[in-house]
Amino acid sequence: MIRIFIPPSLRASGLIGLTSALGLSAVAQPATQPNILFILADDHAWQAISAYGEQRHLIQTPNIDRLAAEGMRFDACLVPNSLCGPSRACFLTGTYSHINGFYNNYNSRFDGSQITFPKLLQKAGYQTAVIGKWHLVSNPTGFDYWNIFIGQGVYYNPPTIRNGERVKNSGYATDLVTDDSLNWLKHRDPSKPFLLLCWQKAPHRNWQPALRDLNFDHDRQYPLPDTLFDDYAGRGLAEHDQNMTIQTTMELKSDNKLTPPADLNPEQKQIWNAYYAPRNAVFAAEKPTGHALIEWKYNRFMHDYLGCVKGVDDNVGRLLKYLDDTGLATNTIVIYSSDQGFFLGEHGWFDKRWIFQESARTPLLIRWPGVIRPGSINTDLVANIDIAETLLAAAGQSIPDRMQGRSLLPLLQGETPADWRKACYYHYYEYPDQHRVRPHYGLITGRYTLAHFYKPSVSDGGTGPYSIAAIPNDYWELFDRQKDPGEMKSVFDDPAYAEVQAHLMGEVKQLRSDANDSAPDNPAAFGEAPRQSK
Ligand code: CA
Repeated sequence: MIRIFIPPSLRASGLIGLTSALGLSAVAQPATQPNILFILADDHAWQAISAYGEQRHLIQTPNIDRLAAEGMRFDACLVPNSLCGPSRACFLTGTYSHINGFYNNYNSRFDGSQITFPKLLQKAGYQTAVIGKWHLVSNPTGFDYWNIFIGQGVYYNPPTIRNGERVKNSGYATDLVTDDSLNWLKHRDPSKPFLLLCWQKAPHRNWQPALRDLNFDHDRQYPLPDTLFDDYAGRGLAEHDQNMTIQTTMELKSDNKLTPPADLNPEQKQIWNAYYAPRNAVFAAEKPTGHALIEWKYNRFMHDYLGCVKGVDDNVGRLLKYLDDTGLATNTIVIYSSDQGFFLGEHGWFDKRWIFQESARTPLLIRWPGVIRPGSINTDLVANIDIAETLLAAAGQSIPDRMQGRSLLPLLQGETPADWRKACYYHYYEYPDQHRVRPHYGLITGRYTLAHFYKPSVSDGGTGPYSIAAIPNDYWELFDRQKDPGEMKSVFDDPAYAEVQAHLMGEVKQLRSDANDSAPDNPAAFGEAPRQSK
């Protein structure tokens, strides 16, 4: 059966014009194009959104949860390269890293002359803006208005670059991004549809909450993840040799707030000290060691990270309220997502990068009144590279051949095409900085994760037992997430999985071929010289 997509605005108008260029069999040309508000958080783990089941009961996020209740929650949204800049490039271009050229945060620079969905929507008559974290080195293109943090940005009083001019700001990053987003919405031309990318910096490291929220959890002790003290048995060199543990890599001073951030003004510093100083004094007196120290660091990390999440959720509430109050909500697609997932102590880690579920899986919630049935849950494999095509299709625009994702429109309407993907491709590059996670590619299916860790064409500078020179480091891992949801033991070369393994090895070869990713060790993806300081 051919399902014809008819946006609500068109149903109301009674005008139906068909086009066949949208990746669906037949799609109506919208008479009134929907507005688009795309809220992207940075490093917001799905484990820290209450709509995702709140397995560990870490936090309540009532405003983000509204999007699940009034729209669709995607339970298997993946990113093909779990890192800030690369994921943003995937969202914008609808292509993998080896096509859009933004491989890593180390020496990649976004080529702003390539096709992006904001450029195409701008051409189609949309007013376009990006506000917040950009982190792609080159200036934004395809936007009527842009106001972005410098690099990663800072949490307190962050300077920004607004349409090319440096601007001073006072206040908290998440509030400021929302303030400017609301201001832009208020002053836009109401006769045209809008595309607003509200791209928050929070809750990225090093996790500095709004000063008003410092005591939000009343010194709660957080439930420990089962794998906080993981010894990486059953897995290979890469897992043993990473540099991203709460125990060793997380810094007490900056990450765990033993010293105040440099960006606070004197009044702000007083509030900051009033919260942290007495608690840091207790820490100094107790001098925890071993597992007790790891648990202390984990709890401080959770306080700070979740405090940032609270700020994001409160500000999502401000944006949704504005859409409600102005009547815009009925014809506005609202997307909430993150540039990737995040480890919240699982495997003893923070950060992302890996093909594993906490990292490669990211939250995705979409509300579109009249199209998406409220309270829907989708479990199909979708990816950040699908968003560009989805939004172009929603706006009635044709999709460039270069794009490698697939429009989610049928899924939003509750119908999964029979030929929907059964596996997602993954390829991570950045090494050895910043966290010594070895390059790997692979696939994720509904049940399995297959990864090939390989030797990159870059010196790791290491001389220890795990240096590239010392140990061969080209190997595969396979995880059966149905039996091993924590991905703790590789079953690669286990005879019981011989058939599955052979099938998945063929599948990853096909995915690589389909994606035109022929060179596992692409020299362009690695550079000896850092592009910029971290
Ligand atoms: Ca990120």
